[in-house]
Amino acid sequence: MNTRSTKLDPLDLLDVRSELTEDERMVQETVARFVDDQVIPFIREAFEQHHFPRELVPMVAELGLFGSSIDGYECAGLNSVCYGLICQELERGDSALRSFVSVQSSLVMFPIHAYGSDEQKDRWLPAMARGEVVGCFGLTEPHGGSDPGNMKTHARRDGDDWIINGSKMWITNGSIADVALVWAMTDEGVRGFLVEKDTPGYTTQEIENKFSLRASVTSALFFDDVRVPGTNVLPGATGMKAPLSCLTQARYGISWGVIGAAQACLDEVIRYTNERILFGRPLSHTQAMQIRLAHMARGITTAQLLSLRLGRIKDQGRLSPVQVSLAKWNNCRAALEIARDARDILGGSGISAEYVPIRHMLNLESVITYEGTETVHQLVVGQELTGVNAFG
Ligand SMILES: Cc1cc2nc3c(=O)[nH]c(=O)nc-3n(C[C@H](O)[C@H](O)[C@H](O)COP(=O)(O)OP(=O)(O)OC[C@H]3O[C@@H](n4cnc5c(N)ncnc54)[C@H](O)[C@@H]3O)c2cc1C
Repeated sequence: MNTRSTKLDPLDLLDVRSELTEDERMVQETVARFVDDQVIPFIREAFEQHHFPRELVPMVAELGLFGSSIDGYECAGLNSVCYGLICQELERGDSALRSFVSVQSSLVMFPIHAYGSDEQKDRWLPAMARGEVVGCFGLTEPHGGSDPGNMKTHARRDGDDWIINGSKMWITNGSIADVALVWAMTDEGVRGFLVEKDTPGYTTQEIENKFSLRASVTSALFFDDVRVPGTNVLPGATGMKAPLSCLTQARYGISWGVIGAAQACLDEVIRYTNERILFGRPLSHTQAMQIRLAHMARGITTAQLLSLRLGRIKDQGRLSPVQVSLAKWNNCRAALEIARDARDILGGSGISAEYVPIRHMLNLESVITYEGTETVHQLVVGQELTGVNAFG
């Protein structure tokens, strides 16, 4: 019988890392170093001050993390597993930074690349890869994000132009975006419009007093007879399939990202329970605590295996949105439960931002809701199993 000679990594019990290629490991290490040096020391303050640390944007761009899956247009052309690892390491720092990169990469650069004209790609993608242009993605409306087909924002043709009216809610990067990709109903079905900041009739309002994703900007967008030229419509995107395809990309990244938040929490409580002496012994020496830590490791390990499997089949072009729903649901739930339990394990200290769990826990309350709530993903899986659409 083989016995192990080296200790396992508590944050990667099944050595998922050994399944990565050398290039993938290098990407992960580079982003991990950036997060350790440039994000973790400063992010708590940004969270407390409800402030997006914009100074990180050029550094993220320099590392090639915007639109990293795109080939050409000054993008890195990395595979899907690399994109996942990027999300994981960024979210180990904070979900806000991962959200920024997800929106820029999966929700704005991806659709411009997939559905845009050559002119749109040339104009926006290199500038977004360099971090000089920030994008946002406007799909959700105030009357119900889970039912985007019931879209009230609409656009009508006026000569070569389009006129947009309506509003969007809960839009990441909204008030700081140079360009908004806005989904609106038209006579031809849902279309995607690139609305540039300062376009007359287009206004944004930042949502204040969030208790979650405080280091991220979230906004409402308003469109009052906003005129955009026909050249700003994505020519290849007609119908709900287009925005939903963007969400599949972003949800895939989220399934990886939340693993990083969970790892940060487990790391913190392993240290804490070794140092905290109660009833004459370290907390980590009690059965109850070991069971709780073991549960966390189980959650992280299963999430890692799910995401890696997703990444591999995504790179083979075999990924189904249902599989992404399963992973987004499982991994967000696991990470949120780990963060909540880690918060409790820290006792009173757990409510202090000096320790990471409460910040991750509060962030994950958004992450489990956005890009499809847990219920929405469960219903997607249920529909696949039964063939019955139970949304209505
Ligand atoms: C911080 C943050 C950032 C965001 N960023 C963006 C962004 O950049 N772009 C964007 O377009 N959107 C964004 N969103 C919006 C997000 O995607 C929506 O909040 C989400 O889709 C849920 O929509 P809702 O808030 O309107 O809730 P609702 O759709 O009203 O859902 C309310 C509740 O009903 C449940 N529910 C829904 N359908 C059913 C059903 N059929 N049966 C039973 N229960 C059901 C839901 O699970 C939920 O618990 C963001 C949200 C947050 C919080």
